[in-house]
Amino acid sequence: MKRVVVLGSTGSIGTQTLDIARQLPDQIQIVGLAAHRQGDKLWEQAQEFGVRRLALFDADAPAPGPIPRGMSAILDLVTGPEVDAVVVSVAGVIGLQPTLAAIDAGKQICLASKEVLVAAGEIVMPRVRASGQPMTPIDSEHSAIFQCLLGSSRDDVARLILTASGGPFRGKSRSELESISPQQALNHPTWNMGGKITIDSATLMNKGLEMIEAMWLFEVSIDQVDVVLHPQSIVHSFVEFQDGSVLGQLGWPNMRLPIQFALVYPQRLTNQLPRWSPLETPNLTFEAPDPETFRSLVLAREAARIGQTMPCALNAANEWAANAFLRGEIRFLQIPEVVERVMWAHQPVAASLESLLEVDQWARREAESLAMA
Ligand code: MG
Repeated sequence: MKRVVVLGSTGSIGTQTLDIARQLPDQIQIVGLAAHRQGDKLWEQAQEFGVRRLALFDADAPAPGPIPRGMSAILDLVTGPEVDAVVVSVAGVIGLQPTLAAIDAGKQICLASKEVLVAAGEIVMPRVRASGQPMTPIDSEHSAIFQCLLGSSRDDVARLILTASGGPFRGKSRSELESISPQQALNHPTWNMGGKITIDSATLMNKGLEMIEAMWLFEVSIDQVDVVLHPQSIVHSFVEFQDGSVLGQLGWPNMRLPIQFALVYPQRLTNQLPRWSPLETPNLTFEAPDPETFRSLVLAREAARIGQTMPCALNAANEWAANAFLRGEIRFLQIPEVVERVMWAHQPVAASLESLLEVDQWARREAESLAMA
């Protein structure tokens, strides 16, 4: 029995994690739940799973009963002695502090918030290795690579190939993207996800962030990470080994499988998920991404090469820009423009918790002042 805390339990990954827990009552016990501001939904989840330990990040959000508030409540929740694993599925870099606290307390991290590794992989990964606990990825591409690498040594890896659906605008030119509305961008062809990550999929910044996430998680250089577009979203990623052999992990696009594997690794448990067969999707296709239209991949690779606090600046600027687009404040093509201008303005320094949190705030302010000027 694994005793699990879910951070971001009211979001898309959080609610699917609870679905898995519902189906595996003998393997998974939910012992703590935290949400940003949806007090009612959190309370309801706590009743269903008999969870007594709760936290709400927002100090002022309404809730039907007493719930501890703020970052200190979340840190208490993840470090408790009754906790084995923490699912980190909060939106953005806000998950960094609880992730570090949980690692240092010897907990397994099931990581959905890629921003944690994008911004802070340099300080997170040494602590993961020191803790002796695995960090199991929930991101579907990284779950695929993690599974393909089981039983191999890191030295055997030549290249990681992340697959990308290409989002709703695959094959479109820059001029066709000028007047995209938030509604059009939220209409993802194969994956059903939260708002910010769906915008990131439309700009391909999601894949740029995933390249950096893969670099840290699997200890490779950014030049060993490539991206191919694969509109059917059946192959969740590939690993190319030194001898030229390529392994991939396949299945229907459904986050419940990577969530289950991250939770019960190294076990393979039977479940009710629909089974994929090659006969159902015989025509799998792959193509190169267009770097002119989708600048995000170029920017992410550049940020990873520069290192230090640059990926943190990229991530924060993108978070601001994607949300500003959702609020109707900037146009679609301005998202990568804002990110690039913030990168130009940033003077990277060595990564530490303090410098990362500072750069995160600075990059948001800089993005706003550049976009609104
Ligand atoms: Mg992904």
